[in-house]
Amino acid sequence: MRRARLGRTGMMAKPITCRETTYLVIGARDEPLSSSEIDALAEHLKTCSHCQVANKQFSQLFAQLDTLLARDVKP
Ligand SMILES: [Zn+2]
Repeated sequence: MRRARLGRTGMMAKPITCRETTYLVIGARDEPLSSSEIDALAEHLKTCSHCQVANKQFSQLFAQLDTLLARDVKP
């Protein structure tokens, strides 16, 4: 079933790794994810408790960053 070769995977959301999940979570801050990326992300988070925790911590960290940056920008 598994193919090493990368190619068009069709409409199915392909499984992603923990590292890719992290990239998507971080990348989502800069630009909105595509629907297939959101699907893949949600699919991975469903099964990976490690990334669920990481995802939560990232959003907390980002919220803190936003607060800090906003404080820095405003006089
Ligand atoms: Zn994971």
